[in-house]
Amino acid sequence: MTDTALHYIAGKQTKGASTRMQDIYNPALGEKKGEVVMGTAKDVDAAVDAARKVFPSWAATPPVRRARVMFKFLELVRRDKEKLAEVITSEHGKVFTDACGEVERGIEVIEFACGIPALLKGEYSAQASTGIDNFTFRQPLGIVSGITPFNFPVMVPMWMFPLAIATGNCFILKPSPTDPTASLMMADLLAEAGLPEGVFSVIQGDKESVDAILENPAISAVSFVGSTPIAHYIYTKGAENGKRVQALGGAKNHMMVMPDADMDKTVDALIGSAYGSAGERCMAISVAVLVGDVGDKIVPQLAERAKALKVKNGMELDAEMGPIVTSAAHERITTMIEKGVQEGAELVVDGRGLSVPGHNQGYFMGGSLFDHVTPEMSIYQEEIFGPVLSCVRVANSAEGIEMINNHRYGNGVSVFTSDGDTAREFSRQIQVGMVGVNVPIPVPMAWHGFGGWKQSLFGDLHAFGNEAVQFYTKQKSVMQRWPDSISKGAEFVIPHTK
Ligand code: NAD
Repeated sequence: MTDTALHYIAGKQTKGASTRMQDIYNPALGEKKGEVVMGTAKDVDAAVDAARKVFPSWAATPPVRRARVMFKFLELVRRDKEKLAEVITSEHGKVFTDACGEVERGIEVIEFACGIPALLKGEYSAQASTGIDNFTFRQPLGIVSGITPFNFPVMVPMWMFPLAIATGNCFILKPSPTDPTASLMMADLLAEAGLPEGVFSVIQGDKESVDAILENPAISAVSFVGSTPIAHYIYTKGAENGKRVQALGGAKNHMMVMPDADMDKTVDALIGSAYGSAGERCMAISVAVLVGDVGDKIVPQLAERAKALKVKNGMELDAEMGPIVTSAAHERITTMIEKGVQEGAELVVDGRGLSVPGHNQGYFMGGSLFDHVTPEMSIYQEEIFGPVLSCVRVANSAEGIEMINNHRYGNGVSVFTSDGDTAREFSRQIQVGMVGVNVPIPVPMAWHGFGGWKQSLFGDLHAFGNEAVQFYTKQKSVMQRWPDSISKGAEFVIPHTK
């Protein structure tokens, strides 16, 4: 690890053609930690050249041998889990235990990718017609790229590259410049696992390197995770340039609480899912939809717990919440809270102005809690992406479902209830991609795939799971017959089953 995060091209860290740099901060200290190089089109070209050289042999490598590289990589990520987590905490700010959890969720996708020989099995119709067989199988696309956000610098890249690589592609990662160091650690671990040079590259940077990826004709597909405006841009520009694109965007996740829910468990679930990772999770709960008299019962308990959150440097093991990622994000969240007050919501707990002893320059803030939020308020409409929970009161579940369905985001949602029919109807009617029943953050398992609806996902295939195997491969269909069965003479009638 160096203080300067470089690109990783053809098996080496390099500054490439970059001349611009961006500072990297430790948000708990509010201090500069290092710098990251900002990539150019030339750097993307260099990664593409390295990938081009190795792609034919990597694509032809039997899936079982590609899986063996993944098995080794899995072992190495497990070995270095805490080192990766430490780097995440030092650049993102989330608490170390949560950073370990992030790596664990990435590991699950690597485990899934280890089963790639079974996932790539094709389909075969023997004797599709007399003497003719038809079979289909899937082949890699070629060179694919992943553009990832700051909030999961290990897990989100791992949603993408283990499956892209295991299916036989070469992969170019463009991580967030806010916390880029983990990308290089993952590159080193892949090399140690025996991945051939050029199969995995890292191009650091911002819009300049992203545009170079979108414009490079040799790159066949782009996976993106980040905010909705950028997801939409990536989707349209990538598609315009003939690429396959999956672009996962922002979120506003609701938890509907029914009067029959277990209130103690619900309070625990809301506090953890709203304030964990300082609310900087795409699956964080940011709206509590309180049905009937739930508001009167639960808001005082939520307030007490929000005030008692242990907000500290994430490296302290009893920390429950670390700092906000950057001073700019801190300012944005502060402004949003002020807007909520101006729009008439009741600020029950104000997390602004919190200082953490010994960390005066850190970007800390406590948990904030709003009550009596209404759907037209900007704190309801917009993604705040910070430790702010908004409570909306509704008369019944039908009103709650309608409100959630009218929201433009549809990433995750949850219902807390003890009634099976309520839960079943909620799951059936809700217009959201990932649903939790008494589960606050319903992130699907690696083999189920992850994706929201509406403006939370552009494209039709989800991240990881079987859908990612489809995303990173294309189907080929072969009709075969052998000379003995070839009929004499030309055929002028379209072939059909005989
Ligand atoms: P972001 O959209 O600012 O950045 C994401 C990536 O796009 C980064 O690599 C960044 O360098 C690049 N980028 C930024 N501006 C760009 C531009 N103008 N042109 C081209 N590329 C650009 O997102 P972020 O702040 O890093 O991450 C937080 C956002 O990500 C939140 O909105 C969150 O909900 C979302 N997110 C969504 C999911 C999901 O699965 N749906 C998961 C994690 C995060």
